[in-house]
Amino acid sequence: MAEGIMVGDDRFNQSPSFADVDLYDSDRALKDAVIANEAVDEARMLAAFGRRWGAGEMAEHARLANENPPRLQAFDAKGFRRDTVEFHPSYHHLLKESIGASLHCSTWSSSGERADAPAEVARAARFYMVAQVENGHLSPMITTRAAVAPLAAGPKAAADMIRKVVTRHYDPGFRPWEEKFGITIGMGVTERQGGTDVRGAVTRAEPTADGYTIAGHKWFMSAPMSDAFVVLAQAQAGPTAVLVPRFRPDGSVNAIEYQRLKNKLGNRSSASAEVEFRGAFAWRLGEEGAGVRTVMEMVQLTRADCAVSSAGLMRAALAQALHHTRHRGVFGRRLSEQPLMRAVLADLALEVEAAVALVFRLARSFDLAGESEAERMRVRLLTPAAKYRIAKAAPAFVAEAMECLGGNGFIEDGVLPRLYREAPVNAIWEGSGNVVCLDVLRTLDRHREAVLAVVADLAREASDLPGVAATVASVKDAFDSDEPERAARLAVERLALLAAAAALRTSDSPVAELFARTRLLGGGGLTAGTSGLTPIETHHLLTRAMPE
Ligand SMILES: Cc1cc2nc3c(=O)[nH]c(=O)nc-3n(C[C@H](O)[C@H](O)[C@H](O)COP(=O)(O)OP(=O)(O)OC[C@H]3O[C@@H](n4cnc5c(N)ncnc54)[C@H](O)[C@@H]3O)c2cc1C
Repeated sequence: MAEGIMVGDDRFNQSPSFADVDLYDSDRALKDAVIANEAVDEARMLAAFGRRWGAGEMAEHARLANENPPRLQAFDAKGFRRDTVEFHPSYHHLLKESIGASLHCSTWSSSGERADAPAEVARAARFYMVAQVENGHLSPMITTRAAVAPLAAGPKAAADMIRKVVTRHYDPGFRPWEEKFGITIGMGVTERQGGTDVRGAVTRAEPTADGYTIAGHKWFMSAPMSDAFVVLAQAQAGPTAVLVPRFRPDGSVNAIEYQRLKNKLGNRSSASAEVEFRGAFAWRLGEEGAGVRTVMEMVQLTRADCAVSSAGLMRAALAQALHHTRHRGVFGRRLSEQPLMRAVLADLALEVEAAVALVFRLARSFDLAGESEAERMRVRLLTPAAKYRIAKAAPAFVAEAMECLGGNGFIEDGVLPRLYREAPVNAIWEGSGNVVCLDVLRTLDRHREAVLAVVADLAREASDLPGVAATVASVKDAFDSDEPERAARLAVERLALLAAAAALRTSDSPVAELFARTRLLGGGGLTAGTSGLTPIETHHLLTRAMPE
């Protein structure tokens, strides 16, 4: 050691570990949304849930599940097919927790009827908190919940499966579903030649004495360890939804072969398989030829989950940025006191406020859809719009939050790289950006009056906010365009912003006003920190975003 060089602890000015976070109590936007959407009776249980999932132990399970991705066991030692997937114990732990909390089924009764309000809002709150911790294991939660309605419409065996879905019991055993205490359901639609144009599916379904025989492939099928899969296949009358169980009714292993697991950018804790059906047994769900409708009903739920998941990712990234900047000093002040950093953080906080308000108001619409035609139309119109806007915003949002942590943000020891890798997939699966915009146009085409009534309702709810009139006019102009597809992205983006402003209007008025002024009226730049918020407005947003 050279003389004169001091040796000491130079680890000052690093933010402390961000563990044991209360995911409910520290999140004012979430609490406001729960109240605004009539789920206040759930608050106590949501608070306990937020503490449980915010515990450092859960964050560690999330890390381990992603650093130890699943492995396909295609064959056994003698070359016989196994087609099972091996997961890290932490993945199993996360699934056990989420299934124990009914994330896969709480919006359904045991007979497959929709559960009473506020089931959707309460689940969205839990889903949003879990998404802040780990997203990969949510895949079977999403598909299982979406599969319940088609199962209820299926033959007796399929309807019987619902009883196993709603047990809240995680049973990873490789056994026939009848012998298990709890089951999950996957979904196989996408094929090599196309995922969007599902009518072009080449997987065949041939009727047999007791069901159907399925032959063909699926290029993506997530959660391959599930007990059964809703699959789209071509039958005589056209695309048909079938339910392919892992085991045939006689107890033998069904002819489902996994070719390999995808090597994914993110979502690494979860398995997504390429699969061949080699004469697999299946039951039909619904009528022959009506499979596209079944799939579209399922993706309405899965798309809503994508929007909630992206809102959760954004919240997690924001919390990391706030925590770090409140502890890190530069030029003699904390980063969170530097005006330019405050402008960035406040803009990020405003985006999360809007995303949260939008997805929880949408969950309320799902809750009310059974009794209100207007709410049903909101679900139909605003689910793709919310997914479009929030899932598209998330990757850039997480990158900005990452930058708030400087170099540490880019390093795999922290959580930001995982959030960043996770963010894009919600925009791609369950209907990519263009596809969900086309879905909005399709709804407009079929239900023009009802769509315009939703827009009018949103306009009325947000009528006192700046920029609303111009936003409504631009949505309508785009809807009236001679080339609606060319204008669709703008229309859907503006529609989502309008819906977010209206949703914010029901909770915190100052936030609604700031959102409308900066996002509807515009005038700011393209990146966070360019909205021109005043110091008082910035303070309001940052105080709400997370207690000091
Ligand atoms: C991690 C992961 C897991 C997945 N898990 C599953 C699963 O469990 N089950 C399942 O069935 N699928 C799954 N998928 C597949 C996913 O749903 C599809 O990748 C997605 O629907 C897009 O289909 P595609 O890949 O065939 O793209 P394509 O259909 O080829 O689309 C490519 C691009 O073209 C755009 N496009 C399509 N049509 C139009 C049009 N008319 N005008 C303008 N643009 C258009 C799309 O928006 C997209 O951007 C998974 C995907 C990923 C990444």
